[in-house]
Formats: sequence, C-alpha cells, structure tokens
Amino acid sequence: MSDRYLKFVNTPLGKTAAQSLGLPAPVPLKRWKRADQPFIEGDVLIGAANGSKAISTIGKVLNASAAKLFHASAMDTLNDSSKSGNKAEALPLNADIDRKFSALVFDATGMKDTTDLKAVYDFFHPTIRKLADNSRVLVIGQDPGTCRQPAKAAAHQALEGFVRSVGKEVGKKGSTANLLWMAPGSEQQLESSIRFFLSPRSAYVSGQVTRISKGATAHATNPVAPLAGKVALVTGASRGIGASIAETLSRDGATVIGLDIPPAMEDLQNVMAPIKGKAMACDITDEKAPKQIADFVKEHFEGIDLVIHNAGITRDKTLGNMPEHFWDMTIAVNLTAEELIDEELIHQELLRENGRIVCISSISGIAGNFGQTNYSTAKCGVIGYVEAMAKQVKNGVTINAIAPGFIETQMTAAMPITIREAGRRMNSLSQGGLPVDVAEAIAWYCNPASNGVNGNVVRVCGQSLIGK
Ligand code: NAD
Repeated sequence: MSDRYLKFVNTPLGKTAAQSLGLPAPVPLKRWKRADQPFIEGDVLIGAANGSKAISTIGKVLNASAAKLFHASAMDTLNDSSKSGNKAEALPLNADIDRKFSALVFDATGMKDTTDLKAVYDFFHPTIRKLADNSRVLVIGQDPGTCRQPAKAAAHQALEGFVRSVGKEVGKKGSTANLLWMAPGSEQQLESSIRFFLSPRSAYVSGQVTRISKGATAHATNPVAPLAGKVALVTGASRGIGASIAETLSRDGATVIGLDIPPAMEDLQNVMAPIKGKAMACDITDEKAPKQIADFVKEHFEGIDLVIHNAGITRDKTLGNMPEHFWDMTIAVNLTAEELIDEELIHQELLRENGRIVCISSISGIAGNFGQTNYSTAKCGVIGYVEAMAKQVKNGVTINAIAPGFIETQMTAAMPITIREAGRRMNSLSQGGLPVDVAEAIAWYCNPASNGVNGNVVRVCGQSLIGK
C-alpha cells in the first residue's frame, strides 16, 4: 500500500501545508539501488575520543569507500584521528564548517569514565547541523558488560541514551543514528556492521544498539555477491517481507529455498521463478514439518547455510475474548515451529559451519500491544530463544533477530486507517518501512563477515516511539 501523505508532503503545496499546520514532513528515504553502488558517498567526518581503539579499522573501511574523508581536529578532548588513514583531511572543529556531511562517525571506545563524555559533545555539537538529508550518525563504544570499572561502564552505557536522542533529532531529515558496542579486541569484526549502518541498506534502522563480539575469524567477502555458494531457507516466502528476503538473499548470491503453506504455492512459484529458487509446500506447524524440511534440504543440497524464520501470523482479540485456537496457532507458527526446525537441522548436522539463523520478532514483542497478547507473547519468546541459543551455537554459527515496526505489507494494509496512520507516523522518520528494509538487515546478519554479530535483536522500525 502506498503512503499518499509522504508523496503529498513532498510536493511544494504539501510542504507549505505541513509547515503551516505543524504536521510531520517525512523525507523520502534513499534505499540501495545498484549492485555497484558504493556503500557511502559524499563527505564523511571521523572523530575519536582519546585512547580510541577502533579508529584505524574505521579508517580502513572508509578508505575503501567512495567518500571524501575528514578527521576532526583542534579539540583537546579528541584523539589525533589521523590514524583514520592518510586519505583523511584534518578538519578543525573550532572554525566555521562550510560543508554538509553524509556521515559523522565517532569512535568513543577510548572513554575511561564519564568525564570523557565531553568528547562526544565536542565532536557532535559543531557538526550535527551540518548533516545532509538521508545521512548517518554512527558511534562506536565498548560493550558496557565488558567494562570492569563502573565509571567506564556508565560512560559507555550513556552512549545508548545519546544515540537514541540524536536519532530523534536527525530523523526529521530522513537520517539515522546507531551505536555499535564492541567487545575488547573485536575490531576485526566491525567492518560488515560499519558498512551496513553507513549505507542506504539501513535507511529504516535508527536508534539501535548492536553488540559486536570477537566471533570466529571474519571472512573476506565478495562485496557484490557476499552470499555466493550459500543455501538459504526462507519461511513464509510467498509474499510481503518473506518474498523480499528471498529476493535480497538471491541478489547477494544465495540459492533460496522458499517455503510456504500449500494454498500459497502459486504466489510462491512466482517469487521463486525469477530468482531460480526452489519452492517447498509445507505448514511449519505440522509435526512432520521439521523432518520434511531436513529431507528437502538433503534431496536438493548437501546442507543449509542460512535459516530465516519469517513465517508469522496474527490472530488478534483481547485476552478475555480470545478463542483457544487463536492462542495455540499464534504461538505455534511464530515461536515453537522455529525451535523445532532448528533442532532438527542441527541434530541432523545440516546447518553448515558459519551458518546463520535469523528470527523475526516484532515491536509488539518488545512493547506489548492491545489485543495481541498471543502475538506479543510469541514474539517476545523469539527474543528469549535467540538470546539463549546465541550462547549455544557452535562452528561459527550465529543467531539474531529482527524486530520490525510498521512495515508496508498486506498485514498492515488490512489495519483500520486510523491505526495504520498512527503506526506509520509514530517513529523518528515519520513513515512506514518497506519489506526490503527488513530484508537488508537480514542480509547484513547473513554476511560471512558478520561473525561477531550474535545474539542481537535489532529493530527495523524507523525508531518507533513505542517500546525501547
Ligand atoms: P504476511 O502475512 O504478508 O506473510 C507471512 C507469510 O507467512 C505468508 O506468506 C503466510 O502464508 C506464511 N505462513 C503463515 N503461516 C504459515 C505456516 N504455518 N507455515 C508456513 N508458512 C506460513 O506477513 P508479513 O507482514 O510479510 O510478515 C512477515 C514476518 O514479519 C512475520 O513473522 C510477522 O509477524 C513479522 N512482522 C511484520 C510486521 C509488519 O509490519 N508487516 C511487523 C512486525 C513483525
């Protein structure tokens, strides 16, 4: 369903009307377009607090981009960030800055206590108004759980509040702000996440914190087809978000098995044919489903690399009015089926080394939602499952979740108009996301270089005002 308000408000008449009535004026988001598109272009400013640890990795990643690099200078609280590489030009922050940036990247990993937070102010205060539309703020700190000193943990935790507030300020320009919390010594694992969060692939991801752990050695990837040679299973692939996940993983080189219920086979074939994927008819709640899926994998491939649990349903009713089968079905499709499928694939040793499992949660599972006790329970359970499994997976396998907010699909098109409009506007970017926004985040998790991204729940919600 198209967002007519977003289109109207970006016409000259619409702009004037929105301004005079004080209505939200969302900026159309720029998304990933071409295979040869650089992950970031334009002017990028890099800065670092004293003692920074990730600056040379940031510099190395950005030096390989199409961006023109600057490093912040002339502030005592800031490190000499010339370590960001000799391509970066020094930019004194105490003088007038006469350019617009497509990204501000700040390495806060060196902060030792809360007084060091001044460096964050010194870097962003003179530059935040110099952000172009559709730009990126990315902060890198140390995972507070790995800080021994309380004052250091406080400083790094504080970055979360900072980034969430910045996201709300810059969202008006279609821009995003995100935070990476790295474990000590995990610099080598940062690249795929820096690339994702600076690129148009993360257009609808804002106010999010991702933990980066040491993980297995990150593998060099083919930037155009990082998933070449991988086999992916996508459940619920006949339409909506699932169809977009299948197309995006195929674009990145994976061979896709699309799965959906038997009545959806015609639609599923239509999604699979152009991407040369294999269609599988299966109800994932059928007790034979895990074994059927394992048999299908064995029949066509030797194993599986990417398992994307996308299939989901809603059966909304207030709790007192909810029939038992609404509860049972919603838990079975959204939660239990995922556990049983993974169990079978792992038990039969079909999930290959460096495999990826991705589950779909929901904002409803984080914040709760009126009339959705069954769905919120299931989607919150997904988070518990992912966090517990992340500690158990072996052989370089990772498991993560995406929690979508309001995404424009048949599911949300069926909502009453007032609820739909509220869902679309109640986020920092004042618009709904597209299925491809969820798919791009999944492709980032699946990237062979994302070994250090494990046990995360990232929201693709335009920084919804609901929930954390
Ligand atoms: P959708 O209803 O358009 O698609 C869901 C797909 O899952 C359908 O193709 C359906 O046939 C399939 N499916 C349902 N039950 C199944 C079963 N038992 N076995 C096999 N396949 C089954 O939904 P969508 O909007 O594309 O959502 C995809 C996922 O994202 C779901 O898990 C949903 O809960 C989640 N999500 C969506 C939104 C949103 O705004 N659209 C928000 C948060 C979370």
